[in-house]
Amino acid sequence: MAKNSTEKKELLNTEIAVLGKAKIPSPLKRCYFIDDNDRTLVNLAEEDMGLTDDRTVYQEFEKSGPRAFTYFDPSKTKCAVVTCGGLCPGLNDVIRSIVLEAHYLYKVSSVLGVKFGLQGFIPKYGHDVVELTADKVANIHQFGGTMLGSSRGPQDPEEIVDALERMNISVLFMIGGDGTMRAAQKIVKEINKRNVRISIIGIPKTIDNDIGFVTKSFGFDTAVDKATEAIQSAHVESLGVVNGIGLVKLMGRESGFIAAQATLALKDVNFVLVPEHAFEFDGEYGLLRSLEKRLDERQHAVIVCAEGAGQEQCEYTGEKDASGNPILCDVCTLLIRKVKEHFKEVGKDFTLKFIDPSYIIRSVPANANDCVYCGFLGQHAVHAAMAGKTDMVVSRLQARYVHLPLDLVTLKRKKLNVKSDYWRAVLESTGQGHLRNDMEKDICQL
Ligand code: ATP
Ligand code: MG
Repeated sequence: MAKNSTEKKELLNTEIAVLGKAKIPSPLKRCYFIDDNDRTLVNLAEEDMGLTDDRTVYQEFEKSGPRAFTYFDPSKTKCAVVTCGGLCPGLNDVIRSIVLEAHYLYKVSSVLGVKFGLQGFIPKYGHDVVELTADKVANIHQFGGTMLGSSRGPQDPEEIVDALERMNISVLFMIGGDGTMRAAQKIVKEINKRNVRISIIGIPKTIDNDIGFVTKSFGFDTAVDKATEAIQSAHVESLGVVNGIGLVKLMGRESGFIAAQATLALKDVNFVLVPEHAFEFDGEYGLLRSLEKRLDERQHAVIVCAEGAGQEQCEYTGEKDASGNPILCDVCTLLIRKVKEHFKEVGKDFTLKFIDPSYIIRSVPANANDCVYCGFLGQHAVHAAMAGKTDMVVSRLQARYVHLPLDLVTLKRKKLNVKSDYWRAVLESTGQGHLRNDMEKDICQL
């Protein structure tokens, strides 16, 4: 397999693999195409890369977009689409965009939908493959979820490539999170071993916005919108009684982006708890005393808690889910118990209303911004695939659409930088500066 050449020595290897030379004139009627040597220079901040130090580097990336020549002959090209992992707003929009672009612009011979994630490739599950015509996807963006279904749990890459060969698939679009991208890498490895010409293109999905080198993942904007509705309800509930506490649990297993952004959007939140920022329940600067002070002063409080926050407060049981992710301790249940114990001890009454909107947020249709974004991702994925690129994902990095090698997005999880101006603004809007831990003492004195 050939690699596009680059003479520059760079910090990261951003070369994109290609199946071979693209020689077929593109069927797209355009006045200009993107040249493969066109690079976009991005000033990567630590947030983009998931680095924890203060490094910023300039890095060149291959631009996405239509090429003048395709590698695959559209009339003989059969594509397939699969969605894996948890639900996220915008999945149907990406599927729709891929199908419409492939049919109307490239006029490929067919696009197949693989049902229920990677299970759909494995004969023993007996899932049917569906033909995705333009008619079939016409209205799917009006609904949340994924029209193809999804699944978790490992599947054998050999069996997956067997299925791709059996169905004569030239391009597989894989929409999913970090697990899916790891599965994609294994599929590419198997394809290379067999020396067959199949392109694997990933479209990174993470509602938590925690994939490296993707500035904002699709669905995140919608998730923040819906999260703010839950916070508003919690705020109203907390105002309706004396010493009312509204507690909202939001997604964010390892990164607190949704909690932070929704907090900034409303400025009704008094405490935001995220995985990146350890906190304590007890002690003068602990959450319980701070909450008590807040209620003494204002008689109501809103707490937003990302699902992965406060894991340092519990013992890890070692349990894992079907995808091998550690099962997190239920920090909100612990928090509710601690609040009850504390207020009983100090002899004060309170009323706590707990809202967990996670499954509502995951399953809604994408908002207008995300619809636009998903449209671009689908189009760019098809352009890349038709040009014969593989082992890559399409990404919007800052304001640019680029191609990224698969191994880059699985390198490191993106996390909130608790030393950043952004996080400082979050803390300023909650006023929780007094909720300190040892680390924060030196970085944030509000
Ligand atoms: P989410 O953001 O919802 O977690 P995800 O893509 O990470 O999305 P997973 O369930 O972890 O969701 O993975 C999707 C599919 O990829 C599953 O079928 C899973 O078995 C497979 N997979 C996950 N990790 C790997 C891996 N390291 N190697 C091969 N396959 C994997
Ligand atoms: Mg995952």
